[in-house]
Amino acid sequence: MRPCAGCLNGNSHMSLVVMKFGGTSVENPAAISRTVSIVAGRVAMGKQPVVVVSALAKVTDQLLRAAASAAQGDRTGALAISSRLRSRHRDTAAALVKNPGDLMNLIDQKFDALDEILRGLAAILELTPRISDLIVSYGERLSSRIVTAALCEKGINAVHVDARDVIVTDSQFQKAIPQDAIIEKRAGERLRPLVDQGHVPVMGGFIGSNEEGITTTLGRGGSDFTGALIGGALTAEAIEIWTDVDGIMTADPRVCPDALRVKVISFEEAAELAYFGAKVLHPATILPAVKKNIPVLVLNSRNPSNEGTRIISLAPHCKSPFKSIAVKKKLSIIDVVASRMLMTHGYLKEIFTIFDKHKCPVDMVSTSEVSVSLTVDSNDRLPAIAADLSQLADVKYEGKKALICLVGEDIRGQNGIAAQVFNAVRHINVRMISQGASEINMSFMIEEDDADEAVRSLHAAFFKDPDPDIFDVEARKLTAQPAN
Ligand code: ADP
Ligand code: ASP
Ligand code: MG
Repeated sequence: MRPCAGCLNGNSHMSLVVMKFGGTSVENPAAISRTVSIVAGRVAMGKQPVVVVSALAKVTDQLLRAAASAAQGDRTGALAISSRLRSRHRDTAAALVKNPGDLMNLIDQKFDALDEILRGLAAILELTPRISDLIVSYGERLSSRIVTAALCEKGINAVHVDARDVIVTDSQFQKAIPQDAIIEKRAGERLRPLVDQGHVPVMGGFIGSNEEGITTTLGRGGSDFTGALIGGALTAEAIEIWTDVDGIMTADPRVCPDALRVKVISFEEAAELAYFGAKVLHPATILPAVKKNIPVLVLNSRNPSNEGTRIISLAPHCKSPFKSIAVKKKLSIIDVVASRMLMTHGYLKEIFTIFDKHKCPVDMVSTSEVSVSLTVDSNDRLPAIAADLSQLADVKYEGKKALICLVGEDIRGQNGIAAQVFNAVRHINVRMISQGASEINMSFMIEEDDADEAVRSLHAAFFKDPDPDIFDVEARKLTAQPAN
């Protein structure tokens, strides 16, 4: 393949696309074969793909379970999980590659090393975030090797690149912050020459390393983030997120089966949805794309001809009030009731300093004269946070809450919209409300058990007659049951 003009002048790559494939897109030999065809299709179109893959579906969870078992002293249980994973990866490799000798050796070496770590962990009985990251990194390190081999098997010039040589992060294990400038430099050194020579680099998502070379991870679901970081660093033409649904939908299709595909959405709206729980995108994904104005496409590897969702800086005007409904579960409400007036100078600052000290982000805040309620992810630091807060005031906290978030264009400017929302969920007890903090988001807090029902009621109320320029209404017509 000849280098494009962009490669020659060292600037943007107008045909370079980053293609990120999630766990379900590489879950078994059939899924990996589909992924290989999709990449081959892009190469045939003259595109220059850089492929980023997640671990095989559920592998990250299983590696975390193995780590937890080992740390509790259950050496046999941990090794049994590892042994099942070894067989799954070997079987997958054998089904995809005719002469898999080298690949099998590589898989065995990795599992031997993993078993060594698990045995060590079962002896020392302490699982640190750093060791946890090392253990889960095997998922992406293995999947990326298998996908590279499967692409080569089909004649694609794929080359494996260790993501840890490119994605340099700080040392906050389990939620490491990428170092953009170093990543840009490394991507220029390690990936760009490969692309220029007509190779297809393949790397694992989610994992990175700190400047000392110690393995880190970007947080659960972080492979999307890797895809966007690489897309940003190489100034790609597009960042494609290949998953198991047709794109960003008007609600999680697992909760709401009549959810519709959103054809086009703004960066800002997609970021809000991701942050407020739409699992289809990792919340940090959008940022590197926004910085360089690179479109992000969410596509379905099981239905590759579908045009998916296009996330761009300025989406066209939408006639429907909302684009999508997201839900964030496993939240807690903390009520802080002060004996003195809340608005006394510096009081809120003292409260937030405590959350800051515990590195605990707050999602929603509501205040009255003497009390403040805050919502946070349920986590094991809550008792410590509550203990610190109780130096200032009376504190209560309650878990099992969910935040429902409606995202749409200019919600602030729509008269009567709040009344319509709360009318749709009038049968559900609403604990906290937030509107106006952003023009594009309206959210409220309810019991976790009511969340799915709330989404379905809101969806029924707001997506009866959706704007056909923005939503895929044709799909609804096709799936509608014919009347008898
Ligand atoms: P991947 O493994 O490809 O990264 P994820 O499981 O992380 O995939 O994300 C895809 C899933 O996100 C879908 O199967 C769907 O159930 C869920 N999801 C939640 N909210 C939405 C939404 N608004 N649109 C599409 N999918 C959503
Ligand atoms: N494998 C990682 C996870 O399950 C990262 C990802 O899939 O995006 O969280
Ligand atoms: Mg994901």
